[in-house]
Amino acid sequence: MTIEAQIQQLRDELNDYNYKYYILDESDISDFEFDMKLKSLQDLESKHPEFNDINSPTNRVGGTITKNFNTVVHDYRMYSLSNSYSKDDLMAWEERVKKLVDGDVSYTCELKYDGASISLTYEHGKLTRAVTRGDGVQGDEVTANIKTIKTVPLTLKGDYPDKFDIRGEIVLPFEGFNKMNEDRIEIGEEPYRNPRNTASGSLKLQDSSEVAKRPLECLLYTIIGRNLNIQSQIEGLQKARDWGFKVPNAAKLVHSIDEVFEFIEYWDVHRRNLPYETDGVVIKVNSFQHQEELGFTSKSPRWAIAYKFKAERVSTRLNEITYQVGRTGAITPVANLEPVELAGTTVKRASLHNADQIAKLDIREGDEVFVEKGGEIIPKIIAVDLTQRPADSKPTEYITHCPECNTELVRQEGEAQHYCPNYNGCKPQIIGRIQHFISRKAMDIDGLGGETVALLVHAGLIHNYSDLFELTKENVLPLERMAEKSADNLIKGVENAKQVPFERVLYALGIRYVGETVAKKLVKHFKFIDAIAEATEETLVDVDEIGVKIAKSVVEFFQSEQNKIIINRLKGFGVSLEISEDALANQSDSLAGKIFVVSGVFTTVSRDELKKMIEDNGGKVGSSISSKTSFVVAGDKMGPSKRTKAEQLGIEILSESDFLSLLNV
Ligand code: AMP
Ligand code: ZN
Repeated sequence: MTIEAQIQQLRDELNDYNYKYYILDESDISDFEFDMKLKSLQDLESKHPEFNDINSPTNRVGGTITKNFNTVVHDYRMYSLSNSYSKDDLMAWEERVKKLVDGDVSYTCELKYDGASISLTYEHGKLTRAVTRGDGVQGDEVTANIKTIKTVPLTLKGDYPDKFDIRGEIVLPFEGFNKMNEDRIEIGEEPYRNPRNTASGSLKLQDSSEVAKRPLECLLYTIIGRNLNIQSQIEGLQKARDWGFKVPNAAKLVHSIDEVFEFIEYWDVHRRNLPYETDGVVIKVNSFQHQEELGFTSKSPRWAIAYKFKAERVSTRLNEITYQVGRTGAITPVANLEPVELAGTTVKRASLHNADQIAKLDIREGDEVFVEKGGEIIPKIIAVDLTQRPADSKPTEYITHCPECNTELVRQEGEAQHYCPNYNGCKPQIIGRIQHFISRKAMDIDGLGGETVALLVHAGLIHNYSDLFELTKENVLPLERMAEKSADNLIKGVENAKQVPFERVLYALGIRYVGETVAKKLVKHFKFIDAIAEATEETLVDVDEIGVKIAKSVVEFFQSEQNKIIINRLKGFGVSLEISEDALANQSDSLAGKIFVVSGVFTTVSRDELKKMIEDNGGKVGSSISSKTSFVVAGDKMGPSKRTKAEQLGIEILSESDFLSLLNV
């Protein structure tokens, strides 16, 4: 088989697996096999740039940076939908429709997905352009970002027209949204408010690899174009499915307005089981012939109407506003409500987010408030029922001092949240920090749980995480529910934690904005805790992917006298605060500033190992040969075109053994 055919076969296979996995929800291949195939394809493509295709499945990982998004005019305007809120509204709409068209009218009912609308253009079966709705006439081109969304087919299947637009909604399913928020809370960032805003914000991120990390989905609902040979909405939906798009199965063809009501009633209940948010139903006249007869008003099609579900909303009394202090000192105001049934659960509390939110809605204790539940775990207050406000009500004064330690709160410019700055003396911060320290991805201390940490702090046995290493069995035995065996386990767990590698220790320290990935980067670059502690903002931002916000936070952490003492204690107890001998022996700066292109097949090390060796020694791995390339490392079967290019540009070609001797291995 020729290289080109191999590449094509891999692309076809990967597209097909992707389709089965993301669109049909079935899978006949393990993640591992998928990754292996993707790697082979990446390798072949980097060796043979002449076969590059912007729609290759390897482009889904992203990496394109867009500074300014181009504004483009839609070929077909993106209209709004007129809204309805009751059966009467719908019956009036049906009457208008029946006046304008002859004969029987059928309708397609679809769910109204709550996300960000998008218009995709396909030419010859390839995605060529993705544009946001904008003002309906023109929007922003966000193709690079959209390509990273797995449910957007890059290449179509079956019998598709040469050119068409297809429209849909980019949504962020609840599960992925909640997971993203857990990750954010873990590094001390504020959680995102709701899936819809997060989905629409994602489309305008500058770094497409960031978009690739978000579990977005694209649900399609309209095909537009000339000479498409499609006669109706329901037929269009089926064709879109056949070509590889994700079109939810809820869509249904009905023949009377009564059946429309049935559809609405059914989904008003069952939408609670859907993985993503919906806010209504869209009813469309099914026949395209009829649609043409009906046409558009200046804002929306006459042949379609949205029915908005009544939000799951109740009103109840706000008894009290209390304030919680998080691990990072962030203050979250909480509304304590008169318990009330909402969407199948009893609600007692709602998040108020921050001071601005309270001021904006003018929320006060004693108010009757409207509570709504979307996809988020905690319900939210959306308005105050002013007609019920008690005469003696006073505006809420946001607290000025920490409810736990009484320290005066601070609020940094540009931040929505107030913080308690009493890092070392505020109990919930101390407990939260130690709980983070022992957590699974950090020190993973077996035999010690979050509740025990709180008990230990309250008993005055520990004041920070370094104190854990001084605990004795005798100390902990008197604690509530602490048996002989659990005390032994606790002490053993703490002892074992001394073996945890430095990168996880650094993450465990709980420095704001230092998540697992950043911790790895810092350890690789600085190698010792002292080097990190002495780093300045300037030297920190020089490290790949470390921005000013992280740099500031790291510098601040190590400036604290208290933290210096804690780190010294950890050192004394034998906790790993430097990169291990093994990892270090394989690292150097000997290749700093050099860019390598690796090509061909190797015998003593694998391609990936070779690339890792380059990076471990400070070099960079480039994907294609250019004048910037320092060396080409050539294995067996290096592509002849690459060799020619390297020779033309006068770039030194190293054999596998040349390369290894360069590193003295
Ligand atoms: P509105 O923003 O209230 O004018 O509603 C119109 C928007 O609803 C469109 O721009 C689409 O993004 C969105 N929408 C969600 N689901 C559908 C659907 N099934 N059919 C048509 N539009 C939909
Ligand atoms: Zn405090």
